[in-house]
Amino acid sequence: MITPEALLERARSGEVAPTARLLSIVENDEPGAERVVRATFPDVGRAIRIGITGSPGTGKSTLVAALLAAYRRVASRVAVVAVDPSSPYTGGAILGDRIRMRETSLDRGVFIRSMSNRGASGGLARATGRVVDLLDALGFEVILVETVGAGQQEIDVIRLVDSVCVLTIPGAGDDIQAIKAGILEIADVLVVNKADKPGADQAVKELTQMLTLGEPRNDWRPPVLRTSATTGDGIDELVAALARHRDWARQCGETERRHHAAMRTEIEALMRERVLRDLARRIDATAVAAAASRVLQKELDPYDAAELLLAGPEGVSTT
Ligand code: GDP
Repeated sequence: MITPEALLERARSGEVAPTARLLSIVENDEPGAERVVRATFPDVGRAIRIGITGSPGTGKSTLVAALLAAYRRVASRVAVVAVDPSSPYTGGAILGDRIRMRETSLDRGVFIRSMSNRGASGGLARATGRVVDLLDALGFEVILVETVGAGQQEIDVIRLVDSVCVLTIPGAGDDIQAIKAGILEIADVLVVNKADKPGADQAVKELTQMLTLGEPRNDWRPPVLRTSATTGDGIDELVAALARHRDWARQCGETERRHHAAMRTEIEALMRERVLRDLARRIDATAVAAAASRVLQKELDPYDAAELLLAGPEGVSTT
């Protein structure tokens, strides 16, 4: 079997299949994941990480394709990580008639990855974090993370990026209410996409007003931009706004704070995993069976049984 180290060497030289294999290893926490993370973590932290979020139909995939093309003009390697179950990419292949995306997908400088959905366990954000870190370490200069802006899970995912771009569209009053409910707090740049449609001015006005209502998180004022992802109008301005945010975030220490917070969460999760694993090893099935019998005999209650078992191997069997 090919070792993770051998895969890494090939992935570092830009080979697609070994890259995909390594991403699966870290995404699913397969054997070898730890070795991959240990070998690559010194190289993490160079990529520009951008999150794109918004309700289904706001044009995220189309906008991501437009951004991909724009960044690809200046970067030699760009990656997309789609955490959107309805997203048109599967395993690097593109479904549907996304012409532009299909064109870039033939480009060796572009790598597209869809995350498999793993329920509400909170595992998705960590898995996405490992995938994004690995792409970063492998030399992708720009990583676009697309999520459906709905639940806590997506908010956790979006915390993995340096700049968050929240999308809405004209006439989406409900959507703007939803944005207000939570997503707005994480937005670094707000985008009214489909600005070619009527009502864009009104949407910009509503969002701008909403921004003045909340307590500012810091001295960054999220700009409200208009784009038309299908025609490409406003994409250059969006790229420029994201660059301004990145410069601001790096200068004032916000980027470092986000990286630090993400790392704290990851270390705590690893500690929890280890503690659970160690604990699982201490569960002696024979002793548990003996304790169960005693509980059924009313000699012990279940809480005492659990405590005695945790207290030591002799806890239950000797009385
Ligand atoms: P997602 O579900 O958020 O990923 O949205 P999609 O990218 O799949 O876009 C949903 C639909 O909106 C598609 O039919 C797109 O062609 C269309 N669309 C995306 N951006 C624009 C835009 O800027 N203007 C217009 N008129 N349509 C757009």
